[in-house]
Amino acid sequence: MANKIIEVTDLHKKYGEFEAVKGISFDVIEGEIFGLLGPNGAGKSTTLEIMETLRQKTSGKVVIAGLDLDTSPNEIKKIIGVQLQTSGYYPSLNLVELITLFSGLYNENVDPMELLDKVNLRDKSKAKFKEMSGGQKQRFSIATTLINKPAIIFLDEPTTGLDPQARRNLWDLIREIRNQGTTIIITTHYMDEAEVLCDRVAIIDSGKIIALNSPDKLIDELVDSGFEKPKEVKQANLEDVFIHLTGKALREE
Ligand code: ADP
Repeated sequence: MANKIIEVTDLHKKYGEFEAVKGISFDVIEGEIFGLLGPNGAGKSTTLEIMETLRQKTSGKVVIAGLDLDTSPNEIKKIIGVQLQTSGYYPSLNLVELITLFSGLYNENVDPMELLDKVNLRDKSKAKFKEMSGGQKQRFSIATTLINKPAIIFLDEPTTGLDPQARRNLWDLIREIRNQGTTIIITTHYMDEAEVLCDRVAIIDSGKIIALNSPDKLIDELVDSGFEKPKEVKQANLEDVFIHLTGKALREE
């Protein structure tokens, strides 16, 4: 039976008089890639940061792996992975040194090279963070979420600003991490990405969930409702052209 690893019930968040999250409820199933989608200002980051224990909720219930956010935030912190803001903080440290530093913060003993292997950055172990490409920085940032061997990781727009090759490479990495048993909550503004990557998505608008299902079912529902796209006659799009011409191999390695 599907095991609920996150249960959010009637979550509200007010900033002063303004209600950014207006009573949302959803579950995340263990082992799935769950997408939080929605326009800017919808309340995605607020919801994410409440689950990450980084922001106070106004009301509602959040249970993560059976732990209640109200009574066990420290236990929750131990089993989740959150992307650390690495850029610019320690410009003179290399990747191994950064991992050692972060491991110390988590009180974890990790082998930096083993962790770098997981995100395909062994070759960059002696490089400084600032010297890496956008895709490498994102891969490293994902590696930092894995330091405490979490059951769940939260990724906030991990592919924003990446080239098409780096984006696909990151999708593979995210799938690999999931295949090793980690549940993944991700936000993205790219609907093609959500469609290929997420098992289920919640679409949030103005602080409310307006749809929650697998991308496939949401598309079928729309089509069944009589929706028709203006005729799509081409068999490919410009991104296909780009990938066809430049290949799938990562650049800036
Ligand atoms: P999203 O991640 O979907 O873009 P956010 O959760 O960042 O949305 O923001 C939701 C709403 O709450 C926005 O209208 C934003 O301006 C507001 N908001 C976010 N953080 C704060 C804050 N610290 N103080 C006041 N308003 C905030």
